[in-house]
Amino acid sequence: SVILGIETSCDDTGCAIIDGSGRLLSDSLYSQTAVHTRYGGVNPLVAHELHRMNIDKAVTDSLQKAGITIEDVDAIAVTTRPGLLLSLQIGAKYARYLSRIHSKPLIPIHHMEAHALVARMYHDIQFPFLVLLISGGHCLLSLVKDVNDFELLGEGLDNAPGEVFDKVARRMKLRNIPEYSKISGGRAVELAAKKSTNQDLFEFPLPLARYRDCNFSFSGLKDSLERKLLKKEEEHNAIGDELIPEVNDLCAAFQLAVAEHIAHRTERAMMYCEKNNLIKPDNRVIVVSGGVACNNFIFKSIEYIGNKMGYTAYRPPPAVCTDNGVMIAWNGLEKLRIQCDVRTDFSFKEVEPEAPLGKNLIENIKAAY
Ligand code: ATP
Ligand code: FE
Repeated sequence: SVILGIETSCDDTGCAIIDGSGRLLSDSLYSQTAVHTRYGGVNPLVAHELHRMNIDKAVTDSLQKAGITIEDVDAIAVTTRPGLLLSLQIGAKYARYLSRIHSKPLIPIHHMEAHALVARMYHDIQFPFLVLLISGGHCLLSLVKDVNDFELLGEGLDNAPGEVFDKVARRMKLRNIPEYSKISGGRAVELAAKKSTNQDLFEFPLPLARYRDCNFSFSGLKDSLERKLLKKEEEHNAIGDELIPEVNDLCAAFQLAVAEHIAHRTERAMMYCEKNNLIKPDNRVIVVSGGVACNNFIFKSIEYIGNKMGYTAYRPPPAVCTDNGVMIAWNGLEKLRIQCDVRTDFSFKEVEPEAPLGKNLIENIKAAY
């Protein structure tokens, strides 16, 4: 079989085609990152307009690159939840149109489930496994029991880590450095941190240190960075476009704090799974995905915690951690294999901007302590 995947939930127009064995036939991506970095955050109207402009090109591109026509496609998978309403609608409407005129089954996909499952396209990973999803809009810890069976163990209580990286990068004026002007804030902070010569110049508190659940909070770190930055800006009289001289050190300390917090919460989730036998001893796996999983420092800190707990950490290749069509096509194939959510009658909600991931176990976890 051949699956076409379409992703437009946020600011990237992604399309990909895979075959029945999960081999990638083609992939096209119209990224809006450079545009939104300039504006400082995703503008929903701009995102909508760019998706509208690019969706047809993205699909045509990937069919052409795969050397097939739409008639050769066996099913169309499309992100229908969660995400920005106007963005989701572009992909969903286009997929419905293709599905209707070419009589192809349509498979609605949950964006965060797709981020998690796509790791199975690149690594031999069996259910159940633990997943950490760190991205521009979410921070989630979940137990993945099957293709369509997720349990939520922890979630972000305020800002998502990718969003915070983007905000602090902007606040530190990193995009005034040409090298960082066209990349995401998260990537810019990672690159700047690498240039740090004094990792210990700034110290951040560990969020939620005394809570024994698996939830996350990043707003305290963001506020703490703001205070440190203001102080240094005053000290150096850095105004307008000027960066503080310690910017690399500040990035390094901030990235370390984010990594430590994420690792700490992930360790709690591993402990909960061990205590309740939710993970098999011969299959201790943690998958890390979502845009922030591109961050090597953060991934390494999960590997480190995993090592301590006997878990192996996996992540998809960087280009598949951020938004893309590949993960949607893959999730479509996984659903097709078990004949789950394969629709020929359009009998599902077109799009759902808000859609929680799986069954919520967070109260159980809180009660366990
Ligand atoms: P969601 O998946 O929650 O709906 P999204 O789809 O907008 O959000 P992704 O495309 O998965 O998010 O990830 C984008 C985010 O990843 C951005 O906020 C970006 O700053 C962050 N990011 C990308 N690369 C890195 C990196 N190397 N280090 C840290 N963060 C990164
Ligand atoms: Fe995403």
